[in-house]
Amino acid sequence: MPEMPEVETVVRSLRRHLPGRRIRRAQVSDDKLADLDTKLLAGRTILGVERAGKLIVIDLSTTRRPLWLCVHLRMTGRLLFTDGALPLNEAHRRFTATLDRGAIHFYDTRRFGRIHLVFEAAGFAPPGIEILSPEFTPARLAELIGSGRGPLKPWLLRQDRIVGFGNIYASEVCFAAGLDPRRSIATLSPAEIKTLHHHTVRIFAKAIEHGGTTFQDFMDCEGKSGNYRRFLKVYGREGEQCKRRGCSGQVQRVVQAGRSTFFCPTCQR
Ligand SMILES: [Zn+2]
Repeated sequence: MPEMPEVETVVRSLRRHLPGRRIRRAQVSDDKLADLDTKLLAGRTILGVERAGKLIVIDLSTTRRPLWLCVHLRMTGRLLFTDGALPLNEAHRRFTATLDRGAIHFYDTRRFGRIHLVFEAAGFAPPGIEILSPEFTPARLAELIGSGRGPLKPWLLRQDRIVGFGNIYASEVCFAAGLDPRRSIATLSPAEIKTLHHHTVRIFAKAIEHGGTTFQDFMDCEGKSGNYRRFLKVYGREGEQCKRRGCSGQVQRVVQAGRSTFFCPTCQR
């Protein structure tokens, strides 16, 4: 499932093609998206493309009528821009917006993806603070952790405090910070919180720089896969040797709040 760096990658790739384009018509070809009122899209000009949490937000506002087209990729959704031939299996195309030049297509094999319209900005604003926003500082992280409790990794996955952590990057950040994902957040020292913040920002920036992590379905709007996978240190490596220099530990997998967590019990304390 795409996580924040993957969604950001799609958003950045869409930004290369969409702003300034006008939607000529839009068409839904999946009952699950039947609620989408495509008539409202025709004639709108795309002002920009943003990300809110894991939502792709395409701004179609005019001065008098705000409107955003929001896309959630979920498991297997792909948003592609084409300026010619169609790139993928037509059976999985769920939505198309024909532009004055080119088109946007939404493909989704498993059909968990969602497209909807929002009429006010509050409609897509995530509840927590975005990792990539300037407000996400060590002090703010310390404040968010505050008097909270519970194990670290599931806490990172809550989207009401910090927006953007997903299962892969939560394991990777805990590893980089040398923190046991099972540690109670109440026990984190100010220095450890600072380290956690540092590696969070560093890993997300690096993942975005490399176009995210592609396991199977993910690609940007030009159909390119991400290559951050080769930088993963613990995720998916159960039983393998720890990659930290000088550590002879083995990566372990535990299940926390129903999700797999990968970590090295030797060097993550
Ligand atoms: Zn280790």
